Amino acid sequence: MSFLTPALPYAYDALEPYIDSKTMEVHHDKHHEGYTGKLNKALEGSDLGGRSIEDLLKGLNDLPESVRTAVRNAGGGHFNHNLFWEILSPKGGGEPKGSLGEALKKDFGSFASFKDSFSQKGAGLFGSGWVWLVKDSASGLSIVTTANQDNPLSSGSTPVLGLDLWEHAYYLKYQNRRPEYIENFFNLINWEKAEENFRS
Ligand code: MN
Repeated sequence: MSFLTPALPYAYDALEPYIDSKTMEVHHDKHHEGYTGKLNKALEGSDLGGRSIEDLLKGLNDLPESVRTAVRNAGGGHFNHNLFWEILSPKGGGEPKGSLGEALKKDFGSFASFKDSFSQKGAGLFGSGWVWLVKDSASGLSIVTTANQDNPLSSGSTPVLGLDLWEHAYYLKYQNRRPEYIENFFNLINWEKAEENFRS
């Protein structure tokens, strides 16, 4: 049993003008597929392939040392991109309604203040990684960054939203203008999917 790269839930050019078609094609077909392939290769011959990727990432520290780094990097890359494509939508943007909208207001004061904080943390991350909105059972919602393909599941929180800050995610269109890429991400957020993640 092996992991598969899910098909994009929209066309390569569906997120134009905010994310260009070429970036989507290379990002999904080469980068995401690359992580999935490396994950499968690392798990060949082990009995870990029957477990879900969420389960593997949550239990990273309990995995055999021989596969731990590969699951962390390639498995993280596989899961992070699965999530990323789903929380983007050509019909996205605006502000969340429902329980996630309420929780954002409660924990950040206002949607604008959440957006500001998320954008600043994302712009400020040094090197490659992700910025996340996460849910903790104890402390509610917060914004965290992770390096490389690390994932909030491995530190015990649930990702609600994640934004890929690797240059491969934006360099063709934005070059060094990461803050502009982050600003435009807000035109694409699929808040209904984020709400599902929040309730999970
Ligand atoms: Mn990526």
